[in-house]
Amino acid sequence: MIRFEQVSVTYDDAPRPALQGVDLTVPEGELCLLVGPSGVGKSTLLGAVPGLVPHFTGGTLRGRVTVAGRDTRTHKPRELADVVGWVGQDPLAHFVTDTVEDELAYGMESLGVPPDTMRRRVEETLDLLGLAPLRDRPIATLSGGQRQRVAIGSVLTTHPRVLVLDEPTSALDPAAAEEVLAVLQRLVHDLGTTVLMAEHRLERVVQYADQLILLPSPGAAPVIGDPAGVMAV
Ligand code: ADP
Ligand code: ADP
Repeated sequence: MIRFEQVSVTYDDAPRPALQGVDLTVPEGELCLLVGPSGVGKSTLLGAVPGLVPHFTGGTLRGRVTVAGRDTRTHKPRELADVVGWVGQDPLAHFVTDTVEDELAYGMESLGVPPDTMRRRVEETLDLLGLAPLRDRPIATLSGGQRQRVAIGSVLTTHPRVLVLDEPTSALDPAAAEEVLAVLQRLVHDLGTTVLMAEHRLERVVQYADQLILLPSPGAAPVIGDPAGVMAV
């Protein structure tokens, strides 16, 4: 579902590539965890899936990234938006409307989803994420965990086959993190969504993962691991 073939990314003026020679495959319907120290290129790798790297970030991408068979060199991010949802590190940076309900509807408007379907998907997503009691709340009044769920929900209403998340639990306390991870697990198991997420607190998320990708150091090739092996340690 997601494939990287010999992918290297070099930002302008950077002394060395942010990613080098990355080969990996994330099969459909798996939850894949990307781990590694800060600055190793995790956000760059994630951003390459919806084409934000290099189309929005500058820099040069070599090799090939394909998502659901579409090559990100020839498909702009908006031509991938119907298959890939992307949730960045800062939920606040996502929000373009005032209330929870409006935010869930927003992403569908640019995809031309019919109004009846939009309304139904908003209701489904409010229920799925436990956000129904908060539907009319201004986003500015929500807790961190609630905001993160709204950010995820705003992407889910587009029914992406692939969901990419950059440290979605990093700002959350353990209970809120559990809520978000439970939602992601349900997406994978019940809807067959493919999830690729970065996380630095491995112990928090490894039990949810089907595959582990470790970026050990800048420019190094990724190491593909088995989460069961990590849990056994
Ligand atoms: P991580 O997510 O693992 O912390 P990043 O992908 O954010 O790693 O960064 C990898 C390297 O690329 C770092 O050296 C970072 O400073 C650099 N970098 C990231 N984004 C940009 C950008 N838009 N322009 C220039 N350099 C960048
Ligand atoms: P519509 O596409 O008109 O909204 P449905 O809501 O019935 O129709 O959903 C169509 C298909 O999408 C169903 O197979 C359903 O399981 C699946 N689906 C529902 N929610 C999601 C989601 N968040 N992500 C991916 N697929 C979903």
